[in-house]
Amino acid sequence: PTTDPTTTFADKQYRSPIICILGHVDTGKTSLLDKIRNTNVQGGEARGITQQIGASFIPVEAIKEQTKSFAEKIKMDFKLPGLLLIDTPGHESFNNLRSRGSGLCDLAILVIDIMHGLEAQTLESINLLRMRKTPFIVALNKVDRIYDWKPCVNTDFKEAYKVQSKSAAQEFDYKVKDTIAALAGQELNAELYWRNKDHRKYVSLVPTSAHTGEGISDLMLVVMQLMQKLMLDKVEFTNQLQCTLLEVKVIEGFGTTIDVVLVNGTLNEGDKIVVSGFNGPIETSIRSLLTPPPLRESRVKSTFINHKSIRAAMGIKIVAPGLEKAVPGTSLHVVGPNDDIEKIRAEAKREVDSVLNDVETSGIGVSVQASTLGSLEAFLNFLKKIKVPVANVAIGPVHKKHVMNTSIMLDKDPKYAILLAFDVKIEESALHAANEMKVQILSDETIYLFEEKLKKHFGAIKEKLRAESASICVWPCILEVTNVFRNSNPILVGVRVKEGTLRIGTPICVPESNCADVGKVIGIKLNEKDVVLAKKDDVVSVAIDDTNTKTTIFRHFDDKKQWMSKITRESLDALKEGWSEDLTKQDVQLLKFMKTVYKIQ
Ligand code: GDP
Repeated sequence: PTTDPTTTFADKQYRSPIICILGHVDTGKTSLLDKIRNTNVQGGEARGITQQIGASFIPVEAIKEQTKSFAEKIKMDFKLPGLLLIDTPGHESFNNLRSRGSGLCDLAILVIDIMHGLEAQTLESINLLRMRKTPFIVALNKVDRIYDWKPCVNTDFKEAYKVQSKSAAQEFDYKVKDTIAALAGQELNAELYWRNKDHRKYVSLVPTSAHTGEGISDLMLVVMQLMQKLMLDKVEFTNQLQCTLLEVKVIEGFGTTIDVVLVNGTLNEGDKIVVSGFNGPIETSIRSLLTPPPLRESRVKSTFINHKSIRAAMGIKIVAPGLEKAVPGTSLHVVGPNDDIEKIRAEAKREVDSVLNDVETSGIGVSVQASTLGSLEAFLNFLKKIKVPVANVAIGPVHKKHVMNTSIMLDKDPKYAILLAFDVKIEESALHAANEMKVQILSDETIYLFEEKLKKHFGAIKEKLRAESASICVWPCILEVTNVFRNSNPILVGVRVKEGTLRIGTPICVPESNCADVGKVIGIKLNEKDVVLAKKDDVVSVAIDDTNTKTTIFRHFDDKKQWMSKITRESLDALKEGWSEDLTKQDVQLLKFMKTVYKIQ
């Protein structure tokens, strides 16, 4: 069968927009997808959805039927052929729907559980959407869980809202307000979709229930409306091929196949193609273009339908020789009769390299591994945001050689001798090597869990460093001596802190008197009370242990000169290593001045 999933409107041809569903775990992403598909399937076979590879096509007829009462009210003109919903909700497919760093998902639905509000992965999703500059709407799901909510099966939301008790409606209003406030905390303006007057500035909230079907028609209509109002140019059908590789799969009887989303253009059986591979570009020819059989034929033995030619937008399985090392998250290129194959190969290579080479030029940083180019890119972006430098990156499972690469950091900067394995397999030999070489492997499946782990890792290292350097590290300060109460054992003086901070343990010396040592601070009293630290302009009395010093007050130095904390190269390094974030601008300036006083390079 031939397939033409486009529509023509005012002499222009349109493809279906690609829609992704994102959000925190358990907010109802899968249930919403099922609900959208099921309500359409029940509408009758002709209007039913078409199952594609990794995606479901919701034809415009089904959407028209579902949103009838509504669409008539607003006199909606449907221009698009339908919607292509990506079947696997979550970050992975969204991340892989990319081309040269920009997103190929036309519009995303961010699902928020109305009872829980914003959660960790909601924030992660918002970051991903921002990174790819993808427009989105919010499905405020599980409205049926609001106390005393009367379920109204498959009803437009505003109708359902009308029949609620006063208290249920009120609770709903509160929850919406809370969500809007929480989104504002993320610098996002949001508004219930029917109150949203400016879709460019405000994110629309669509209340839904994946259980009762309330608001599902609203959701479909808002998506359609937004696409038609603001992004019609983006979904114009063109012959400029846009095709992205989502998954590499071995299928019995076909060998290694790739699942792609054809976003724009046409693919034909026999087309010569180039895809990015782990070891460089792969050149091959399309043997078959496959989609699943229609639902009603699913009992028939044949698992796929063969196509001679397929036009966008469509989820397709491609069978071709030599795809074993293809990299998900990269683009598929077709080599036309007049195309320069070398140029296309170079472009395919560049796409992977641009992400793999996104590392510190200093060569100092952590090692990172992810399963696809899309997730690697998103992960690197996250690390940049939390200021973790990256030295090595790779796509695919962690092998021994990756651990060895990471171990180089043990000499350069041990805190970075960690390998972050983002949703990838770790080979047994790699675990073994890591154990032997004392390289730490941190692994997880979501970015937000990494954030916690990295905080812990760097926090623990810092504490250790601080504990080790506490005895050598010296904070800068300049003192003016106001009184001398006792000359020795210990020295007792009244001082005013002119600059910096004075702390217990600080060695004091008098630079103007041949750097004569005064001793080490063992006690500070502010207003008769023991303190551990005195700030600029504090007037305090200080006890200084002089048992180990060879110089004596009034013989080698006196109270008229400036007293300062005694800094050395080692003390400076220790301070920078363990406390760099706690140093104020004034501290840094003072240290600079004191370095010249003590002639430290
Ligand atoms: P996902 O992890 O985001 O894909 O969430 P699921 O679709 O798996 O849903 C998580 C749980 O929430 C399941 O037990 C669902 O039955 C339930 N759930 C999903 N949507 C709704 C809803 O609208 N109302 C209610 N009451 N429960 C829901």
